[in-house]
Amino acid sequence: MKVSIIGIGSVGSAVATAVKNTGLAHEIVLFDIDGVRARAAAEDLGHAAAFSYDVKITAASNYRAIKGSEIVIISAGANQKPGETRMDLLHKNAAVISDIVPKIMANVDSKNVKLVIVTNPLDVMVMLAQKLSKLPASRVIGTGTMLDSARLHVILSRSLSVSPQSVNAYVLGEHGDSSIVAWNCATIGAIALNDFCKQTNTPMTDNTRATIEHRVKTAAYEIIRGRGATWDGIAGAAADLIRSIINDENRILTVSTVEGIGKNSVAVSMPRIVGNNGATRTLIPQMDKTEVSNLQHSAKIVRKNFDLIGK
Ligand code: NAD
Repeated sequence: MKVSIIGIGSVGSAVATAVKNTGLAHEIVLFDIDGVRARAAAEDLGHAAAFSYDVKITAASNYRAIKGSEIVIISAGANQKPGETRMDLLHKNAAVISDIVPKIMANVDSKNVKLVIVTNPLDVMVMLAQKLSKLPASRVIGTGTMLDSARLHVILSRSLSVSPQSVNAYVLGEHGDSSIVAWNCATIGAIALNDFCKQTNTPMTDNTRATIEHRVKTAAYEIIRGRGATWDGIAGAAADLIRSIINDENRILTVSTVEGIGKNSVAVSMPRIVGNNGATRTLIPQMDKTEVSNLQHSAKIVRKNFDLIGK
């Protein structure tokens, strides 16, 4: 499958490496407004590919080179500087998405292509890309809270002394400060979190939960403070999503897609079944009243910010 990536900065380069390492793309096209950067990345990555899979990696000097792509990943735009929120990028990155999406759509098969959005503020950019592309909502997919859910799995697994693979727990809502942990439906293996804690004598107080949630929500800020940007985690998330699409795995992933009509439409992350046709089905986990209300609040924040860009 041919995969194109638009925006080859820290994130785009790491995503390209991670996609290459899936071994599922026969061709990867890299485009950046900074052509020198894209060409250098393609060359470097091409050398790395000599040690792994036989994949053709090229830099595109214009959008015609993405023709035939079944998946186009958008990771272009400004990133957060230390202390900045994702929403602080709203207007800058709305301009970037508005520039890129029509150019992509002029060069891909709209009956087949899937757009994968990585640029922040993620959910608002998903809404904008879906509107501009006129693609079905199921085929404009934001990596959403996949990364936040992974962070939750890792942090929770350490405090419970189990593998992150055995943690089934979701972060839902905005990929941002209003995201929520859906504690009520969390399981360890097939055992409800509370039961697991009782059986293993592991106290899980409200305070512990609040601390874990705080660490999940502030992880990106901590990483940005330490290394200037985040890229490895999101690259893992993007590659996992692409794998589920290319292999038609129908995995349940917390991705962000637009739901609803007109003024009531919004994109936030929910568990969704993701396969070759995109994110085809949304699932509603069991949540308590507070979680439902926090999720609605999160959706309102996304919608309000989409309205602010006036598109
Ligand atoms: P970066 O500054 O390293 O790279 C951005 C790249 O985009 C640059 O190479 C730039 O030339 C390119 N670009 C800008 N405008 C463009 C345009 N109109 N057309 C083509 N290319 C263009 O930034 P980064 O650290 O790679 O972050 C990229 C985006 O990914 C940011 O919005 C960041 O917030 C986001 N991000 C998202 C997640 C997530 O979980 N969704 C995680 C990390 C970063």
